[in-house]
Amino acid sequence: MKNIVLLGATGSIGVQTTDIIKAHPNEFNLYAMAFGSQVEVAKPIIEELKPSVVIVKNNEVKQALLPHITGDVTVYSGLDALNEIVKDPSVDLVVNALLGSVGLEPTLEAIRARKQIAFANKETLVTAGHLVMEEAKRYGVDLLPVDSEHAAIHQCLRGENRQDMKQMIITASGGSFRDRSRDELIGVTKEDALKHPNWSMGAKITIDSASMMNKGLEVIEAHCLFDVSYDDIDVIMHRESVIHSMVEFADQSVMAQLGTPDMRIPIQYALTYPDRLPYNMSSGLDLKSFGTLHFEELSFDRFPCLKMAYEAGREGGSLPTVLNAANEEAVQLFLNDKIDFLGIEQAISDQLEQHDTIQSPGLDTILQIDQETRERVRQRY
Ligand code: NDP
Ligand code: MG
Repeated sequence: MKNIVLLGATGSIGVQTTDIIKAHPNEFNLYAMAFGSQVEVAKPIIEELKPSVVIVKNNEVKQALLPHITGDVTVYSGLDALNEIVKDPSVDLVVNALLGSVGLEPTLEAIRARKQIAFANKETLVTAGHLVMEEAKRYGVDLLPVDSEHAAIHQCLRGENRQDMKQMIITASGGSFRDRSRDELIGVTKEDALKHPNWSMGAKITIDSASMMNKGLEVIEAHCLFDVSYDDIDVIMHRESVIHSMVEFADQSVMAQLGTPDMRIPIQYALTYPDRLPYNMSSGLDLKSFGTLHFEELSFDRFPCLKMAYEAGREGGSLPTVLNAANEEAVQLFLNDKIDFLGIEQAISDQLEQHDTIQSPGLDTILQIDQETRERVRQRY
């Protein structure tokens, strides 16, 4: 029985993680959960899975939640509580399904406590990948990827000699605007952007998919998780989202992982690794219903966010921190109707241009640059 702490329990990945926990009651126990402010989403999870500890964003949310709590549940609030709970001796597995760079410090704490980590929170790796991976190496902790592309690559590399890998090929569905030209992006609404063709996900990542920044963040995530050079990471458009990613080896063999676009499959993989458990919450992959799978080149001119992510990743240092912070704020401004869709890439490129990269930044520098970048983006609009 694994005792799980689930960070981001009320989110898209968080709720799907609770589906996996419920489906395997003899394998997993939800020991603790953390969320921001969605009390209504949290209530049924707390009632059914009875965690011992619940952590919320602030005291206001705590006061809203407390009247609904029955039984032996302790409620804490604030970021410090997140950093503490991941170190709790009762915890075997930390699932980081937080959104944004708020997940950085809890990730570092979980690594230092040598916990097994199932990891969805890509912004943390983009903002401070070198720090996270250094600590993971030092403490001998594996980050098990939840992101479907990285879970695919992890599976393609199982049992392989890493030196034999030639390149990774990350697939992209193309997001909600894949068939529009750049001119046709002028004036698109957030409702249009939130209609993803293949996946049902949280709002931020759905916008990131439409701008292709999600793929850019995933390229940096792959660079960090698998210690692979940017020259050896390719991205192609694959509309059907059946192949979740591929690895090409020195002998030109290409391994691919296929599956239905259901995030609960990679979530379960990360929770049960190195074992595999049965899964029956969606019907399996029916290749005959697809008939044909398509692959297309992704152009940097059409998707400048992908280009900016490669450039920031290659430059390294503090530049990916700026990329991530500017993107998180710009997407929020777009979701709040403060800027239009093309304003997102403009806000990011403005911040990247004015930043003087600091090489090998420490945690304090990263947190400071993250805050300063966010403030600059917010002040501009
Ligand atoms: P959501 O926005 O749906 O969920 C985010 C979760 O984080 C919510 O539970 C939210 O709480 C919680 N949260 C945010 N801020 C805080 C805080 N300060 N303290 C405590 N909890 C907080 O995001 P997703 O589930 O879509 O994405 C989560 C991560 O997984 C992202 O990094 C994303 O890129 C990645 N990912 C997501 C995929 C998907 O299918 N959704 C696929 C692959 C990767 P609340 O809502 O209650 O405020
Ligand atoms: Mg993904």
